[in-house]
Amino acid sequence: MSAPVHVALEMDQSWRYAAPAAMARFCAGLKERRIEALRCGGCGRRYLPPRPVCGNCHLPLADWVPVADEGRLEAWTVVHVPILDPRTGRMREAPYGMGLVRLDGADTTLNHFLAQSDPARLAIGQRVRAVWREQLAGAIDDIRHFEVLA
Ligand SMILES: [Zn+2]
Repeated sequence: MSAPVHVALEMDQSWRYAAPAAMARFCAGLKERRIEALRCGGCGRRYLPPRPVCGNCHLPLADWVPVADEGRLEAWTVVHVPILDPRTGRMREAPYGMGLVRLDGADTTLNHFLAQSDPARLAIGQRVRAVWREQLAGAIDDIRHFEVLA
């Protein structure tokens, strides 16, 4: 019986895909460090990330409103399993924090990475702020992660 062989291999698997119109505009804003939500003309709910139709009223959404790059941590977890980052094709080492962030001016949450991965230093309700990359590309990872404000 032969022993298994482990081969370490790093692959670049970048790819491109078309974003729906609302996501395309959202990402274009990110390239200018601008975060926008879509507001429903019926109930006023402000969706971030943007979506084409209100989940409450089923009305099409087209009213863009600016939101802050700071907000409230609504939920969080610390992940202990490395993942293949679909944006880079590289492994994201564990542990890392993930959070649902409700930015000021939005009524829904954005799922994103957190700078903090120590559970003792994370709590629902904490104020967080986006940490932007130096080079913006018009993609969700223009926001590197969210950091907890002191
Ligand atoms: Zn609505």
